[in-house]
Amino acid sequence: MKYSHANRLGIFICHCGVNISSTVDIETVKKALTGYPGVSLITDHTYTCSNPGQDMIRNKIREEELDSVVIAACSPSLHENTFRKTLEEAGINPYKLEIANIREQCSWVHSDRKVATEKAISIIKAAVSKALLNEPLTPISVPVTRKALVVGGGIAGIQASLNIANSGYKVILVEKEPSIGGKMAQLSETFPTLDCSQCILTHRMVEVERHPNINLMVSSEVTRISGFVGNFEVTIRKKKTYVNAEKCNGCGICIEKCPRKTDSEFDRALSKRKVIYRPFPQAVPNIPVIDGEHCLYLLKGRCGVCRDVCGPGAIEFEQEERFVKEKVGAIVIATGYETFPIENIPEYGGGTIPDVIDGLAFERILSASGPTGGEIRRPSDGKVPKEVAFIQCVCSRDPEKYFSYCSKVCCMYTSKHAMLYKHRVKDGQPYVFYIDIRAGGKGYEEFYQRASEEDEVLYIRGKVSRLYREDGKIVVEGTDTLLQENVAVRVDMVVLATAIRPSQDVSRIAQLLKASVDENGFFTEAHPKLRPVESMTAGVFLAGCAQAPRDIPDTVSGASAAALMVCNLFASEELKHEPTIAGVDEDVCSGCGICIGVCPYEARELDREKRVATVNEVLCEGCGACTAACPSGAAVQRNFTDKQISSMIKAILA
Ligand SMILES: Cc1cc2nc3c(=O)[nH]c(=O)nc-3n(C[C@H](O)[C@H](O)[C@H](O)COP(=O)(O)OP(=O)(O)OC[C@H]3O[C@@H](n4cnc5c(N)ncnc54)[C@H](O)[C@@H]3O)c2cc1C
Repeated sequence: MKYSHANRLGIFICHCGVNISSTVDIETVKKALTGYPGVSLITDHTYTCSNPGQDMIRNKIREEELDSVVIAACSPSLHENTFRKTLEEAGINPYKLEIANIREQCSWVHSDRKVATEKAISIIKAAVSKALLNEPLTPISVPVTRKALVVGGGIAGIQASLNIANSGYKVILVEKEPSIGGKMAQLSETFPTLDCSQCILTHRMVEVERHPNINLMVSSEVTRISGFVGNFEVTIRKKKTYVNAEKCNGCGICIEKCPRKTDSEFDRALSKRKVIYRPFPQAVPNIPVIDGEHCLYLLKGRCGVCRDVCGPGAIEFEQEERFVKEKVGAIVIATGYETFPIENIPEYGGGTIPDVIDGLAFERILSASGPTGGEIRRPSDGKVPKEVAFIQCVCSRDPEKYFSYCSKVCCMYTSKHAMLYKHRVKDGQPYVFYIDIRAGGKGYEEFYQRASEEDEVLYIRGKVSRLYREDGKIVVEGTDTLLQENVAVRVDMVVLATAIRPSQDVSRIAQLLKASVDENGFFTEAHPKLRPVESMTAGVFLAGCAQAPRDIPDTVSGASAAALMVCNLFASEELKHEPTIAGVDEDVCSGCGICIGVCPYEARELDREKRVATVNEVLCEGCGACTAACPSGAAVQRNFTDKQISSMIKAILA
């Protein structure tokens, strides 16, 4: 395509319905910019991003022979790409576009029409002065490695892996634990349908293990990620399990004969497991691992029974950890969540009263494969609790002390817990302390109604103020805000719906990926509405509770969406990389190397012969760190030059 290089700029002002025009006086803006140096056309439209809006822009570019365009509208993160295509279709270089953000940075943050109108004029003037200096650029083509890395093997990672693999692409699924399944494997029955969690999950776990396109790496962690969209290089650490998975035939005699036991993490310490163990009977892969922290042989050189009884000779106490390098084109982060540890909340009896447990522990008690075979018994003495208090919003929606956000799933799983308790202990009484009920999913309101009406769960609206032991009972005190009176219930067991928080490893993973997390540590999406499964880093997608607390239906749909984005990326052989990146003025560069140290993308190197810095164009993300740090002005950012920035400042101050 040929681009014209005359000097004719057009301004298109968007009303954004009334989003902009109700605060910014469009006619005044147009008048103020008429005759502004370099401006050949100024016009407006109710919705410039709509089809008619874009038709109008294309037609005007052709009729007026424009060579640069300023669109005064919303944030460039929303429609910059759309408008770039519009310019290209009209025959001008897409990088001769500048967006003046007069919505998020103007109409949405001002209520005074005069102030907003003046600010809009300044913003547009700055954009015009920059646009007039924009160079025509061509995107850089890079090849795509059509293999994906999925980090985390809960239901989110399982779903994303299967979707990508079923589309014909290779997947490496990395799970830090010895089995995939995540928290869903620990659940008993699932709201709102009460179907058995294991029954709907295990066949998918097996499918993952058997899928020819999936390389499942359990007991593994990603330790290094470099590269860029389409071309990441990852290093995966395969931790020591002391069992050779190739040789093990899964007979389980090692587990049977192992003389030592420790708390089962899977059963939330409500049962014991052997030191050589499978996390749970349906684990995938179904290969035992040795817990190095408790193994007598590894600690003291004694025992070794498992090795003695293992027919195929699969026990390898000498095993070393391994590092595997892989190339992938896209990454899905599905690292899930953890519940806030109850030991950290002694005010609720956590860690001090044995019959105060959290929701996941209660799931294990409810589960047929759990420590009590599905019978409801309290941890302290194994007796059936006749009265149970379920407390919602423990550490969630508590900005003063803990987390301000809602953990989203607790209202529903507490209804489920109370309901299932009542099904099994017919003469039992469940109480639920709640702030309000959030039942915003399909069939959720009906599920809650069923718990409160049919299953006689007593809902007490109010926060718990005190919880203590008295005469073998646990007393839960609070205020019933509906009845406006203080209440105290004496119960045998308490189940805390503790806050859902991101997996503890998230900040390390985010650093490896250069992806951003929000103030609570959950991964941030590129745009909450329009790009909800894309991270801020190109080629890195988000699935499940790594992004925010969510239930299984939302997790599965988000993971499928992330998988679709990966498949979209893999659909073409080449990717277009943004050309608005850094360059080097070799005549000015002294080769000091400061830019190399500040580049977060490892895109800069020193050419030792020429003694100048160089830029790897495909690694550079155009963040501008090098241009800010360069003491001699040799580092330049295409279409973001010092000259452009100072002309913008001058335009605003004039
Ligand atoms: C008590 C309770 C009851 C619930 N009941 C229901 C219900 O009835 N119905 C419903 O719809 N939802 C329910 N939920 C919510 C449900 O658990 C989640 O929606 C679901 O588990 C989210 O799946 P996930 O894959 O995103 O996260 P997870 O299940 O947390 O899986 C994440 C996986 O990633 C792995 N991982 C973490 N970090 C790394 C790393 N750095 N490297 C490699 N692997 C890593 C973890 O080991 C884990 O296997 C309940 C939640 C709780 C707390």
